[in-house]
Amino acid sequence: MYERYHIHVVPTLGRHHPVPKFVVRRADNCINCGKCERACVYGAHKRDTNDLRKMAEPDSTLCKNCFRCVVECPQRALSIKVNDEFRNLGKGVWTPVRVSTMWNEAENAKIPVLGAGYRGNFSGPGYDAMWTDMSEIVRPTRDGIHGREFISTSVDIGRKPPLLRFDENGSLLTQMGPIVDLPVPFLLDVSRISVTDAALKGMAGAAKELGTLMVLPLDSVSKLNGEAPAELLVPLISSVQDLERVPPQARMVEISHSPEWKNVLKELKEKRPGLLVSIRVQPSKELMAAVDDMAREADVLHVLFAESGMDHDGQYARDTMRLLHRHLVKVGLRDGVTVISSGGLAAAEMVPKSIICGSDAVTLETALLVALGCHVCEKCEDCPSDLRSAPEEFVKCRVTNLCSAWRDQMLEMLGAMGIREVRRLRGETGRAIFQEDAHRDAFSDITGGGNVE
Ligand code: SF4
Ligand code: SF4
Repeated sequence: MYERYHIHVVPTLGRHHPVPKFVVRRADNCINCGKCERACVYGAHKRDTNDLRKMAEPDSTLCKNCFRCVVECPQRALSIKVNDEFRNLGKGVWTPVRVSTMWNEAENAKIPVLGAGYRGNFSGPGYDAMWTDMSEIVRPTRDGIHGREFISTSVDIGRKPPLLRFDENGSLLTQMGPIVDLPVPFLLDVSRISVTDAALKGMAGAAKELGTLMVLPLDSVSKLNGEAPAELLVPLISSVQDLERVPPQARMVEISHSPEWKNVLKELKEKRPGLLVSIRVQPSKELMAAVDDMAREADVLHVLFAESGMDHDGQYARDTMRLLHRHLVKVGLRDGVTVISSGGLAAAEMVPKSIICGSDAVTLETALLVALGCHVCEKCEDCPSDLRSAPEEFVKCRVTNLCSAWRDQMLEMLGAMGIREVRRLRGETGRAIFQEDAHRDAFSDITGGGNVE
């Protein structure tokens, strides 16, 4: 019987103290009248259970910054300010709001609501300088996860022929290569982050729950002790000899780009014809010049951006991926190869945006650590969330919850865009507005056709 894709989530509290966005302070002139307790619908103000005549310290983690208690306090005893610890969360594209939003997503697997109270930027660098076309949002049948129309988030990984050939009897002549069908357009990648054995197992458990692939160092495969289905593992190997340690059920391996990539790829294909081979590439101008060869031979190009979301030349993935996609279309190679992009994906909306810019799928790395409580503070020796002691089940639930929340947001976006499968979003730049284009349209009369900086 047909079974609709479903991700089983388990609400899972963080292991360390939350970092509230606001700090509520009660001054000494408080007369314990209790008006603030009645004013706050979020329960941030309570009486002290040891002495009910007094108010307890405000619980800042519950405050939504509505200012009602501040206004209603007859003594003007309450004040609210942005928490310095919150302000210091994250780095670059990993902004404080994004980090804390991901903590919430990993905790309750729910779509965050930022709309009415959202006071963040509506523009910025990289993917923040593009907006998706949500003009179909009014159609009730296309209302994302609540709608009646089925919206597919499946993607295919592998080479696809440009056309199918049949003989006169209708039998297929085209040789089809191996294809891996994933229910979500994201893979987990633990090869670019440092994880404990427990976290590795937890993430493998999440990959199993999601039905997606997990890229990992070859040495980590044996640490899983067969706990994760081998067909979901994508070992990162460096030579053909490494193939002996790759489980026979594995459907894909990754190799890094090197001068010998062609020979390695050829030998891998000879030894295991059914295996997908992905080449990891660091995007740069030199590499772009050699990309045609790789797109002709490899099943997958895995394009690695830094966690800042930029390539080696300081160009954002948004622009590099668009250039790469357009180039591959122009030379007639785009439909053959699968392109996976990774790095700097710090919010759910960045997954469909990366796909619009030309990716078939993305991998998640730092986002997996943030799901566990990482502050992206880069003080890993003295981790404020003690990620090293995170137990396997906690890791599995938090990563699954985050991915489920991201998939639900993708469904909402696809529904609002009137697109019924994420595959059709690839390279659809016409369904997005790019900041520089909007500026040019709005101001070109003033600037005489030039861009506005
Ligand atoms: S309303 Fe003001 S004075 Fe009354 S209990 Fe709250 S903080 Fe104290
Ligand atoms: S500002 Fe609003 S949410 Fe925050 S403590 Fe006061 S009443 Fe509660």
